[in-house]
Amino acid sequence: MPIFKFTSSIFLWLAVTLMTMSVTVAMAQSGKTNPNKSAVIKSVETHAPDLIRISDDIWANAETALRETKSAKVLSDYAELQGFKVTRGVAGMPTAFIAEYGSGRPVIGIMGEFDALPGISQKAQPTREPLQAGAGGHGCGHNLFGAGSLGAALAVKELLASGKLKGTLRFYGTPAEEAVGGKIYMAREGLFNDLDVCLDWHPDDDISSNIQSSQAMVDFIVEFKGKAAHAAADPWNGRSALDGVELFLDGVNMLREHVHPSVRMHYVIQAGGQVPNVVPEYASVWMWVRDSKRKGVDDVFARVKEIAKGAGMMAGVESNVKVQSGDYELLVNQRGAEVLQKNIEALGPIQYTKEDITFARKIQEVTGVDQAGLDGTIHPLQETKEDPEGGSTDVGDVSWVVPEISAYITTAPIKAPWHSWAVVACAGMSIGHKGMLYAAKSLAMTMVDLFENEPLRKDIRAEFEKRRGDHVYKPYIPDGPPPVPTGN
Ligand SMILES: [Zn+2]
Repeated sequence: MPIFKFTSSIFLWLAVTLMTMSVTVAMAQSGKTNPNKSAVIKSVETHAPDLIRISDDIWANAETALRETKSAKVLSDYAELQGFKVTRGVAGMPTAFIAEYGSGRPVIGIMGEFDALPGISQKAQPTREPLQAGAGGHGCGHNLFGAGSLGAALAVKELLASGKLKGTLRFYGTPAEEAVGGKIYMAREGLFNDLDVCLDWHPDDDISSNIQSSQAMVDFIVEFKGKAAHAAADPWNGRSALDGVELFLDGVNMLREHVHPSVRMHYVIQAGGQVPNVVPEYASVWMWVRDSKRKGVDDVFARVKEIAKGAGMMAGVESNVKVQSGDYELLVNQRGAEVLQKNIEALGPIQYTKEDITFARKIQEVTGVDQAGLDGTIHPLQETKEDPEGGSTDVGDVSWVVPEISAYITTAPIKAPWHSWAVVACAGMSIGHKGMLYAAKSLAMTMVDLFENEPLRKDIRAEFEKRRGDHVYKPYIPDGPPPVPTGN
């Protein structure tokens, strides 16, 4: 009996030891044995009710580019309440701000967006019904982007406050991503210059550490000024600005044959005259040129400017090309992406309830896409493609100033249409909230790595410098202040 008892207790001890060992090994593999990482995960969970409230507030206000007064206030006020030093109205934009904590090096930054898109107001339900007819909506999930990044910053700030990490942490409240490119003005002002690394994330329909670039682009207006005349009585005295537009667009569409397949050119005619019996004295086109590299955009844009000049000459009218804005392509950082990837793998997939999945499927049914539900799984780190898929972002500009790490986190159903009511609906309920909290945790864990590991920061910097080469950052935006709207 005693022997048996002894043997059985040895077995018990062995079993417990082996179990403990396997848990320890699993946790070590997942990276959760790092007490600072466990602490940031816990902190995000503690702050979750506040972060969801902030996100829902921004979602309901749905303020568009450079009008995000309430949204910037809710984020910056909360940061201030938590002990951050907040500087509002940076780079000439009342809704841009920086919330800083700590001192000395390293300096790690994280960006948060909060602007909505016009005209796509929607309730948090899976069928189309505006929250407020004609108002804006968060069809790109930027309410989650802002709140999630702030959640990550708060969690890391607590470690700086308790002395477990050393250095400076900066949250950048970056407005107007959709229309103006707030980050470009902030980059022009040099506000990112002293960062070691900057992080961001974007809502998506799957989870991955981003290693793909984005498209570079330039946004410009081509104007033609002619001379009005009676279109029947004395047309020979008129010079049609609309002729200028038509000739210009003919030229652009002929140029299409002679550009690389990666180039995209799209335009709308903004003004083309008022009535047929007046020779139009003013006409204009709003146009974007994109390519996978800034150099490609520069080359095509140079030709487009020549075409505008030629069109003006042929129509006998004045022509003028006015650059409004433009984005650099995203400079990826493989080493940084690998660190983020490890952290999302450690966190594991997002778990959805039956209600979440039913909500997602209903959205897919209504918008006519495959009813595949939600993808909360972790996608492996991909190869960087030579030509990115369509789309540009002002994060691209920041990535040419400092090394940048970007995550994509699920906040919407698979293949749901972006910039539409469907994504607005999900950004205001649990599918969006789960993605937002997940982003906060994974980015906070990655910041822990960056604060703790100096050789890692050096590797990331070395890769950044190699990729950037000797290119000197020069934004496309014109001289002068950002186009802050006046009044409402
Ligand atoms: Zn977006």
